[in-house]
Order: sequence, then C-alpha cells, then structure tokens
Amino acid sequence: MRVLAFGAHPDDIEFRMAGTLAKYAKRGDEVFMCVATNGEIGSYGMSRAEIAALRHKEAQASADVIGAHLIWLGYEDEMLFDNRETRMAFIEAVRIARPDVIFAPPKYRDYNQDHDICGYLAFQARVLATVKLMETEHPVIDHLPPLFTCTAHGGLSMKTNPQYFVDITDTFETKMKMFKCHASQDGPWSKDAFGVLYSDILVGENKFYAGACGTAGVEYVEAFTLATDWPIIAGAHTLLP
Ligand SMILES: [Zn+2]
Repeated sequence: MRVLAFGAHPDDIEFRMAGTLAKYAKRGDEVFMCVATNGEIGSYGMSRAEIAALRHKEAQASADVIGAHLIWLGYEDEMLFDNRETRMAFIEAVRIARPDVIFAPPKYRDYNQDHDICGYLAFQARVLATVKLMETEHPVIDHLPPLFTCTAHGGLSMKTNPQYFVDITDTFETKMKMFKCHASQDGPWSKDAFGVLYSDILVGENKFYAGACGTAGVEYVEAFTLATDWPIIAGAHTLLP
C-alpha cells in the first residue's frame, strides 16, 4: 500500500498520526509525509531562516526513522491559505505519492488556521488529483483514495467523536522517536510559549483514546474520522492498519 499524510507544521504529523504511519511502514507499506509550512515562527532565539532550516532537518530525520518520503512544501508559517498555488501544490503532492489512503487534519475544527486550511486543501486535492485538466508535473492518479482526518489539537473542538481507533501500543516508541526529532519544539518552544511540553500533551491524548477504547493491552491509540463528504469510499476502514 501507499500512504500519504498531510501536516500543516513540521511536527503535526508526528503528533497525531505517526504511530499509525509507523504501523504501515513496519509491514512494508510506502509512506509519504507532506509538510505544508516551514514552521518558521517556532523559536524565541533564532531567526525565521534559521529555525525554518532546522525544522526542515528535524522533519527529514523524523521521516527517516520509518523510511518515509518527506514532501516539504515550505509555505510561510501561519500564512497558509487556499489559493491557486497551494491548491496545485497539494494536488501535486497527492500525485507524487499516488496514495491508497490519505491522512490529514480536520478542516475547520482546530485553534490554528494552518491546520484547518491544510485539512481543507488535502480534502480538495484528493479529488482534484484525479482530474486530468488540473495539470501539474505528475500525471493524474487513477483512483480516488479515502481520506481520514486525525483529531484536533488536544482532542478538542471535535464536532463529532472520532470513528476509528488505531492501537499504536506496538509503535508508540517509534512515534516518540520521530516526535523527539523535533527537539527545537519539545522544550524550548512549547515550554516558553505555553508552559507545557508537547510530548506530555501527545502522551495524554494517546492514553485518553486508549482509555476510551477500554481494551486490555491497548495502552496508546490514535483516533480518526473518515471524511464524510461525497465521494465516500465504501469499506475504507479496512485500509487502516
Ligand atoms: Zn501545527
């Protein structure tokens, strides 16, 4: 299988989908991680250019942990908009990955607009990547992949409860290894900005969803919702690992 995950910022995919991606990678599937913005506001000490360059390296190191392909779009942090350029870039990312399944943030549910717009663009790109006259460098994809949205930051602002729960107990260590590649964020930035460690929020979320499942031996869970807008792919949940 081929799997594509979209994230607005360089550590977003790791936060909510990396355990699931690691499960795909572990069984031999090909994984693509597409990061929309360069994360250039995530520092109190470095310049925009310095932190953006560092975060690109951190994202690559994280992708390398599971042998994933990194697609780095490099748009300005906190300035992701749905316009011609970004829409075409997302379409191209889908065509590069040719995914059987796509993961993305939920659209219009989170505190951060980059997350929302990333989710919206992914949703648009999934369909438009099949349309021949939406011309990009890579050819159209020949099938429409289902799209699963991850949970919103902190698991809040969800309009509905998630539908599908992936047991990531066996890949949680790998997920943390990926997340820790983003060392510029888990400490210097999150402590200064919010007074908490991002990794603590991450552990709390994955444990919360495990608790919601209430299944023996299931310690960490990532939760998803199948995009319910037309067109819906029947049986899409069978593509989850
Ligand atoms: Zn983010």
